[in-house]
Amino acid sequence: MSDVIVLDRLGRTFATDPPVPALVDVGLRVGRGDYVSIVGPSGSGKSTLLNILGLLDLPDTGRYCLEGVETTELDDTARTALRGSRIGFVFQSFHLLPHRDVVDNVMLGEVYTGGDRAGRRDRAIAALDRVGMGHRHSFRPPRLSGGERQRVAIARALVGDPALLLCDEPTGNLDSTNTTAILHLFDELRAGGTTLVVITHDASVSRRASRRIGITDGRLTELAA
Ligand code: ADP
Ligand code: MG
Repeated sequence: MSDVIVLDRLGRTFATDPPVPALVDVGLRVGRGDYVSIVGPSGSGKSTLLNILGLLDLPDTGRYCLEGVETTELDDTARTALRGSRIGFVFQSFHLLPHRDVVDNVMLGEVYTGGDRAGRRDRAIAALDRVGMGHRHSFRPPRLSGGERQRVAIARALVGDPALLLCDEPTGNLDSTNTTAILHLFDELRAGGTTLVVITHDASVSRRASRRIGITDGRLTELAA
């Protein structure tokens, strides 16, 4: 089975004074349908890694192959198109528009994917069904609980049918009940074949993944599952 992510001797150093080596000699392979958690303390390089995996930032050295495409050789236009069509993002702070209803918010997930406009609403509704939010179509985000908002954000990330779902502290703003619900949803997505990379500093979140990777000072180590 082909790998979704292959990182080979990847490095990223921020050109501050003094320079900050945020990622050092990173190697990683993630297969289709894997559910990987990356756990490490604040400042260890988690967001830097996620930004590179999400094609929002480029490494200074090394290679990043996404579904067989060597991304470090793409121009900006091709990289943006690949990001829009193959990657979904989930963030700690949801990033939903408060004055738009749930279906509109999810439809916005397709704006950058290049999907055809016809059927956009149907695909949004199908994504909401996948995350168990089919009963809240006309709600606006301020009327939803934190866990429900994160479900809507996950639906928005899923509409383009991405190969890879990247989550940065997805339960960081949630209480334990809502955290449990989101972790259950991740289990379901993984069972459905979605590849998940979940960045967290919460050990209870990282334990749910099929594979745990630690990051310290920009270096990865495989942890016992
Ligand atoms: P984490 O997400 O694990 O908290 P980050 O990836 O955000 O860590 O940061 C890793 C290191 O890189 C930290 O030392 C941070 O201060 C530094 N860093 C992150 N982004 C930048 C930037 N744009 N410019 C300079 N230094 C940065
Ligand atoms: Mg971070």
